[in-house]
Amino acid sequence: MIILLLHKRSILFFFGGILFIGISFGVYQLAAHPEMQNWVQKKLVITHIKTDKKVAALTFDDGPDPDTTPLVLDALKKHDAKATFFVMGKRAEEHPDILQRIAAEGHEIGNHSYSHAHYKKYNDKKFLLDEIRRTNRIIYSITAQHPQYFRPPGGYLSYDLIDISKEEGLTIAYWTSIQDSKDWVEGKSAERIAAYVIKHIRPGQIILLHDGCSNGHQTARAVDLILEELKQEGYSFVSFSELMNLEKSE
Ligand SMILES: [Zn+2]
Repeated sequence: MIILLLHKRSILFFFGGILFIGISFGVYQLAAHPEMQNWVQKKLVITHIKTDKKVAALTFDDGPDPDTTPLVLDALKKHDAKATFFVMGKRAEEHPDILQRIAAEGHEIGNHSYSHAHYKKYNDKKFLLDEIRRTNRIIYSITAQHPQYFRPPGGYLSYDLIDISKEEGLTIAYWTSIQDSKDWVEGKSAERIAAYVIKHIRPGQIILLHDGCSNGHQTARAVDLILEELKQEGYSFVSFSELMNLEKSE
C-alpha cells in the first residue's frame, strides 16, 4: 500500500513537472520579451488594431517560394483579397519574378531579414542592421517598394531591434497571438489550419501564416477555405498598411 501511494505520488510529481514546464514554455512564447507589452502600448510593436469593423490582415512569412507562393497568390486573387508578404532577402534575390508578381497583384511586401538567422546572432546589432538594410535594398530594387514593416524571424525581439526600427523608420509587425495556427507544421491539413483561423477570427487581427514553408501547399489551400468562409461572415482582408490606416481613421 505504501509503495503504491509513493508510486502514485511520484506519478503525480512527474506529470505536474511536465505541466509546469509546458506552462512556462507557453508563457515564455507569449511574452517574447519582458518589455513586449510596453512596446505594444507605444505602438513600436503591432499585434492588432482596435476596430469594430470586420477587417483583418493576412500575413505570409518566409517566402518567396517558387512552388508555394504562387498558390497562395492564386487563392488571394480568386477572392480579391490583399495580403502582406514578409519575405527573406536571400529568397527574394533567388526568385525576383515571384516578388514582382506579389507586388504587381497589389500586395504589400515587408522585411523578414536576409537569412532568417538564429536569434542569438541578433545580439550583434551590426549584424541585425546589415540584414535589415540589405533586404530593404533587395526589395526596393525588384519592386520599387520601400518596406515599412519588419517582422523579426521567430518573433525574437530585443532592445537593439527596437532602436534599429526607430532609426530606420520601420514598424515591427508582429501578429495576434491567438492567430498563430502553426500552419508550418509538416502534415497539418488545410482544413485544420482554416478551421483554427475561422474559429478565432475577430476584427483587427493580424493572422500569421507561412507561404515559404514545406507545408505551404496546405497553407495555400487553407487560404482559399478561410476566405470562402470569412467573406460570407462579412470579413474583408487588407494589407498591413491599410489595417494601420484604418485604426488612425477611427
Ligand atoms: Zn520566419
